[in-house]
Amino acid sequence: MEHTSELVEIGKIIHENSYIRKRREVTLEGIKIDFFEAKKGIIHEVKKSKSFDESHIWQLKYYLYYFKQYGIELEGILDYPKLKKRERIVLTDDDLLKIKAILNHIEEITSLKNLPKVINKPFCKKCSYYEFCYC
Ligand code: SF4
Repeated sequence: MEHTSELVEIGKIIHENSYIRKRREVTLEGIKIDFFEAKKGIIHEVKKSKSFDESHIWQLKYYLYYFKQYGIELEGILDYPKLKKRERIVLTDDDLLKIKAILNHIEEITSLKNLPKVINKPFCKKCSYYEFCYC
């Protein structure tokens, strides 16, 4: 049911967006797209930061993967307004394998009986799970 209703929602968004040039913020289960150009088949992720990070690429690649699961092939663009730069992102076959492996690994972690140990890395402070791990 969830798969079907999500597909209906995606179809609706694509249909609605065929008549307008761009739509800001599209929220679907687990993902939030900054803006979507339906006619061109491009989703945009806007980064306010002044620095490039590899995690930005993988976030967008995950969005492309997400749509591909519903048979929708899209491209992505990472926008860095402060840097005045854009980067085109595509999903390769290798990326698909890597994302599937990461998702499997996440499932392994979430099915553990005990929480994994904290890793004490600088990026922990920016992690969404910081409070679970350190508070
Ligand atoms: S804060 Fe995030 S990155 Fe750091 S240990 Fe916890 S889950 Fe891992």
